[in-house]
Amino acid sequence: MSQDWGYNDENGPSTWASKYPLAAGSRQSPVNIDRKFVTSDTSLSANGLSWKYGDNNAYRIVNTGYGWRVDTNAQGTELKGGPLAAVYKLEQFHCHWGSSNDHGSEHTVDGKCYAAELHLVHWNSDKYRSFNEAACQPDGLAVLGIFLEVGDTDEDEDGLKRIASLIPEIEHKGQSADIKFTLNINKLLPSNLHYWTYLGSLTTPPCNESVTWIIFKQTIKISENLLNAFRKMKTVEEDRKELVKSEECCLTKNYRPPLPLGNRILRECGSI
Ligand SMILES: [Zn+2]
Repeated sequence: MSQDWGYNDENGPSTWASKYPLAAGSRQSPVNIDRKFVTSDTSLSANGLSWKYGDNNAYRIVNTGYGWRVDTNAQGTELKGGPLAAVYKLEQFHCHWGSSNDHGSEHTVDGKCYAAELHLVHWNSDKYRSFNEAACQPDGLAVLGIFLEVGDTDEDEDGLKRIASLIPEIEHKGQSADIKFTLNINKLLPSNLHYWTYLGSLTTPPCNESVTWIIFKQTIKISENLLNAFRKMKTVEEDRKELVKSEECCLTKNYRPPLPLGNRILRECGSI
């Protein structure tokens, strides 16, 4: 049996709304960021965005069948300011990518796709008691989005490279590995903090309309080797041998294409 939802022709994004009605809503993500229609908002910089992550927050990496996800203990983590009216805690982070380097990001900028997009998912711990409770509230989640571009780099030495070193242990769906080294989550973020922000949704079913999106304008670099390691992950469990060898089971792409912005407002902080 194929997965209930996925990224193939038969179960891909265009089919999600038939099983997950929220996916047909008017506050969906991702969107194309059309820079002609962005509103500059000085109140965003006055109420500066800030975050706090420690070296020991990331404790486990999982193959979800849709990509890798790093789970974090929320202890001491904090995201606040900018468009956010509360303090949010980090729950997990994960990545979306494509089968080649010219596509893979979920958000696009003036129609341009990036090779991959990192999402740091936070929940509103001022108002709600848990991630699950927050995940279906309009102000429940805040996601930081970071575009990844392929290039020669040692910038990912401490972050993405260390994550990729665990990918062989989680080749198949359902596998997980403990993260025993320190992982500096701050290194996954760009140095320039200018961003776009808008109200949207989760980009995977059930596509809850609960996310305040904050997308950084500056990209970070990733080596092609790391992206290729991500693309070799499998969408099926190890014991499904009849399927495991098939090319179709490789996680070559896991992104949802942009949805209409409609009458939502895209605001920006900073003008790079
Ligand atoms: Zn995501």
